[in-house]
Amino acid sequence: MRPIVSGRPESSCGSYFAASDAAQADRPIFASAAAREIGRNGVEPCMEEAAPHQFLSRFRIGSDAVTGLPDRRQFERFLRAPPFQSADSDHAAALILLDLDGFRAINLTHGYACGDAVLAGIGDRLRHSVGNSGFVARFGGDEFVVFCEAPFPDGSAQALARSVFESVSDPVRARHATVNLTCSAGWAFTEGEALGPLDLQARAEIALDAAKRAGRNHLVGYEHGMQAASQARTDLEEDLRAAIAADRIEVWFQPKMDAQSRRCTSLEALARWRRGDGGLVPPDDFIALAESAGLIDELGMQVLRKACRAVKPWLERGLVDHVAVNVSPKQLEKDEIVPVIAGLLAAEAFDPSALQIEITESLLVEPIDAAARRLNALHSLGLTIALDDFGTGCSNLAALKSLPLDVIKIDRVFVTGLAADPDDRLLVRSTIDLAHGLGLKTVGEGVENEDQAEQLRLLGCDELQGFLFAPAMPADECEAWLLARANEASGLAL
Ligand code: C2E
Ligand code: MG
Ligand code: MG
Repeated sequence: MRPIVSGRPESSCGSYFAASDAAQADRPIFASAAAREIGRNGVEPCMEEAAPHQFLSRFRIGSDAVTGLPDRRQFERFLRAPPFQSADSDHAAALILLDLDGFRAINLTHGYACGDAVLAGIGDRLRHSVGNSGFVARFGGDEFVVFCEAPFPDGSAQALARSVFESVSDPVRARHATVNLTCSAGWAFTEGEALGPLDLQARAEIALDAAKRAGRNHLVGYEHGMQAASQARTDLEEDLRAAIAADRIEVWFQPKMDAQSRRCTSLEALARWRRGDGGLVPPDDFIALAESAGLIDELGMQVLRKACRAVKPWLERGLVDHVAVNVSPKQLEKDEIVPVIAGLLAAEAFDPSALQIEITESLLVEPIDAAARRLNALHSLGLTIALDDFGTGCSNLAALKSLPLDVIKIDRVFVTGLAADPDDRLLVRSTIDLAHGLGLKTVGEGVENEDQAEQLRLLGCDELQGFLFAPAMPADECEAWLLARANEASGLAL
């Protein structure tokens, strides 16, 4: 992959967009990012004027200072103006929205000046990838938009979208760093429909939303039906917001057992949402939604508070040693998490050493300095920390050393295959050895049968969790289960 350096001299003046040759004279020519970069160094930025046109000169005012591209406001004003806003235009057009993945991490790791240079480099690159057939704008922090009318440089709108998308993943050399980036992108195409550019933009936004939900590095084209799905998601989000505001998220508990003695050592608190119609929505369907809708902090604290309140009497009666609560990487993005958890534990008079937080492995692929600092602060309060679903993400072994971990939870995909698949057995054995070597305990997740429990015990796994023992249960059922276990154990002891 060819690194593209931001600020190449040959691109000091970039020309933008021509819908047709006849109209070309009316199209704007903007200073490129490179020219802006030169401008910041004391040389006048290049602002070549196209043939004067009242609308276009208004459009040029105040273009984005970092990239030299038009900003969102200018772009939308541009699209609203004739000749673009003509729904009956027989010109095919495509609009691609791109959102850089993990851009915040670049600012945090390499500094804001490098972040700016990366944005300028990407802006430059996008403009080159559409050449004279389209124009590019910076839509916000790390979002770009590309608008193109046929004939498309790559033959079809789809090929264009793919080449624009792929152009982002060439390494960017910015300042003293070489940065590897990916993006999420959504695109829409007129496909013979009489659509104005703003309709295209709305569709591309829906497609971008789908791309972001699919995870990093995804390109999604708008399809009919996406709009209805997007509306359903908006409704779900509103319902979830209302449920959280009304303190209606339930907390269920699943036991974890000592692998040797089969004593219940602790419980994992798992969020449950009973929707208005009485149906139970599983967390896999609403945690990600809570994260993207900015609701996860409140949801996380609601779960923690309810877990502390339910478990405290069980701790006092010696029924369990601690409770584990899942914490989303999003919650760990803010410094407030430390005083908020400390305050909650103090308010509930809950012993911090009886609380474990479970963090997911996805945290390990992000630059983890800031999260590690917060986790260290939580650890010094007395909390223990478990790494959840180990083995399913990009297991970053160096991060195992830099985080204050106490426990590794081995994901159930490896536990499921234990009996039949020698590779799974090897992976589980190595994980347990690695964890023990680092002084960490291990929990096998998703244990569904005696065979798996026995294999894990023989491999030295410390604790087991799974349907073999109990599923997640509401607090009253869990209490009955714990009491029955305790009675059974004392009966055996007599
Ligand atoms: P997790 O933390 O890995 O939780 C374990 C999940 O595996 C739970 O699903 C549990 O019901 C399921 N499970 C346990 N034993 C078995 C088994 O033997 N077989 C099978 N097939 N599944 C088993 P659940 O409750 O649906 O939770 C799914 C995920 O949602 C959790 O995975 C966790 O990542 C997330 N989650 C749940 N509650 C919260 C929360 O309060 N906050 C955050 N941030 N995430 C949560
Ligand atoms: Mg968990
Ligand atoms: Mg897990």
